[in-house]
Amino acid sequence: MSKLKIAIQKSGRLSEKSIKLIQECGIKVSNGERKLKSESSNFPIEILFLRDDDIPQYVEQGVVDIGILGENEVWEKEKNVTVVSKLGFANCKLSLAIPKDEIYTDSSYFSGKRIATSYPNILQRYFDAKNITVEIEEIGGSVEIATGIGLADAVFDIVSTGSTLLMNGLKEVEVVTKSEAVLISNTKLSNEKQEILDRLLFRINAVKNGSDHKYILLNCPVKALDQITQLIPGMKSPTILPLANKEWCSLHSVVKEDEFWDVIDQLKAHGAEGILVVPIEKMVL
Ligand code: ATP
Ligand code: MG
Repeated sequence: MSKLKIAIQKSGRLSEKSIKLIQECGIKVSNGERKLKSESSNFPIEILFLRDDDIPQYVEQGVVDIGILGENEVWEKEKNVTVVSKLGFANCKLSLAIPKDEIYTDSSYFSGKRIATSYPNILQRYFDAKNITVEIEEIGGSVEIATGIGLADAVFDIVSTGSTLLMNGLKEVEVVTKSEAVLISNTKLSNEKQEILDRLLFRINAVKNGSDHKYILLNCPVKALDQITQLIPGMKSPTILPLANKEWCSLHSVVKEDEFWDVIDQLKAHGAEGILVVPIEKMVL
């Protein structure tokens, strides 16, 4: 039986979370000392540990079937691959930054400027679309020091909190795009491999839904049931359990984590008490 080959980052910001996602899908893999390859004992998958820059090419060529990497690398490498799913981690921005004492107006500021980056293709497309001519200096890393050493007038790089920029006397002036980790696949998978990928995706979605949602339990007056059900309708409808005190009941439901904070005050206003919010490991819709 064939196996699905998946490439993940060997060591870096994506490695740990990629392995964790695979393990949360119930797929056993050894991640002791990082070898080049690892097989699962309970799922038809083989994992290859690679540099993230190489993953789009390997997926396009079919050396591996699928891969996990930052969407920014997919855009940069311009390979023919399919983005199958966004994974919700490694969220970052790709931004333009300039020395902090410069006065910034709009993107025409960059006309004729030298910009250092590890993402020349993304940057070129951005300025082409605006009909602005810039000079792009491609460098492999430590982009943030490029203005300080006189290599460039500005930088285009990954930003998460902006503290690296600040430390280097730079300020963020344009967010060009936002990126997160994605699962990509070869465009022509065999039926057998597509079937394995579908099984994997089913599990990934269950894990993702689980982490986006919380299980909520509360006690409420029976007379407030309708209003509370409207606030937290759950997957189909909430579970309602009677309490010994006939005027009260217990209600169980599922809420999106970010919506919970919006409804909590209203739940309390309707008389809800003893509200418990617990994590969900997997959720199949
Ligand atoms: P490799 O050696 O595999 O080429 P790398 O140095 O190119 O690794 P990392 O710094 O490990 O890459 O980043 C991998 C990906 O993680 C980036 O392409 C981006 O999608 C994301 N990323 C990078 N920096 C951050 C950050 N500060 N916050 C969140 N996500 C980030
Ligand atoms: Mg890289």
